Amino acid sequence: RANTKKELPEHFKAYKHVWVAVEIEHGSVHSVSFELLGEGRKLADKRGVELAAVLMGDDREALGQAAQDCFEYGADCVYIACDPALKHYRNETSTQVLTDIVNTYQPEILLLGATNLGRDLAGSVATTLKTGLTADSTELAIDEDGSLAATRPTFGGSLLCTIFTLNFRPQMATVRPRVMAMPEREEGRSGRIVEFAPNIVEDDVVTKVLDFIDDRDSDTAALPYADVVVAGGLGLGSVENFQLVKELAAVLGAEYGGSRPLVQKDWITSDRQIGQTGKTIRPRLYIAAGISGAIQHRVGVEGADLILAINTDPNAPIFEFAHLGIVADAVTLLPALTQAFARR
Ligand code: FAD
Repeated sequence: RANTKKELPEHFKAYKHVWVAVEIEHGSVHSVSFELLGEGRKLADKRGVELAAVLMGDDREALGQAAQDCFEYGADCVYIACDPALKHYRNETSTQVLTDIVNTYQPEILLLGATNLGRDLAGSVATTLKTGLTADSTELAIDEDGSLAATRPTFGGSLLCTIFTLNFRPQMATVRPRVMAMPEREEGRSGRIVEFAPNIVEDDVVTKVLDFIDDRDSDTAALPYADVVVAGGLGLGSVENFQLVKELAAVLGAEYGGSRPLVQKDWITSDRQIGQTGKTIRPRLYIAAGISGAIQHRVGVEGADLILAINTDPNAPIFEFAHLGIVADAVTLLPALTQAFARR
């Protein structure tokens, strides 16, 4: 936290309000944007300012529907930038439009989801605006003086650090999906729409979209949003034993995943890794079998409502944050659970 004693530059006073740059995925708003609106609402209320959403795309009708969704999840105002050049995400065009809107309306805080798209966009917007960005934040707060305090894991997840960005405007942060809770939807809530005319000359855009490959059938896309997740760790001993995790998941209608060493051993693909460098999950039930509960794993699962850990070691760190623990051999217990649930 630098220069806190310094007077803030006079022009900082023009920067007001909390914004969320909304991600549109397959025509509808990505849930991380709603999660950020929920969090942004708290920051805006604390600061006594407006919460706004920024929407970019090429279909005005779809953007209008998305704007209504944003109002119902807490936005007071929605900025809409509609242009054929914004049909597919391109870093170049989205960076230009978002920085133009920011420079015109000057938000104090700008939040984005730490998705592939959000990470790509946030970095280039922050660089273009020459402002500070706290990536992959897990907690957001605001000080009396308007300083955004964004907390994120550091040193490989062994420490949590809080970064204050008082000396920057706007103050930017990204937050991973499922880290923040989904806010309540208030049906029929409305707000103000501001149309922003993008100034894009397609011929000047270097990146051209030649083809668009839809990944909606990807069978791992559901993992961060699953109600029930069963995961395995090194304690299972072999890739054959990992099948027991898949079998229990199938009976429970759950998604399955695992700890990072399983990716390194090729027992699972990297898109099934759960944790700091994998997926963050927020299920109602998380069953962890043969996972020690290292901090890097913990940060990806601690949003679960109920964590059930199965581990042979009663002193395993996972028992420090699991709600229910069974000291048992997972290789024996998992098939027993699968059979028991299959009978129900
Ligand atoms: P172990 O730590 O080896 O634990 C195995 C557990 O199984 C032990 O607790 C043991 O008591 C128990 N056990 C043994 N036999 C049985 C049995 N028969 N039945 C039941 N229990 C049994 N890890 C992640 O998971 N996700 C990440 O995103 C991630 N990112 C990382 C990023 C960085 C920068 C670094 C440095 C590390 C990261 N890690 C991550 C790795 C992390 O530090 C741990 O090494 C890893 O989570 C351990 O995996 P594990 O629990 O499967 O294995």
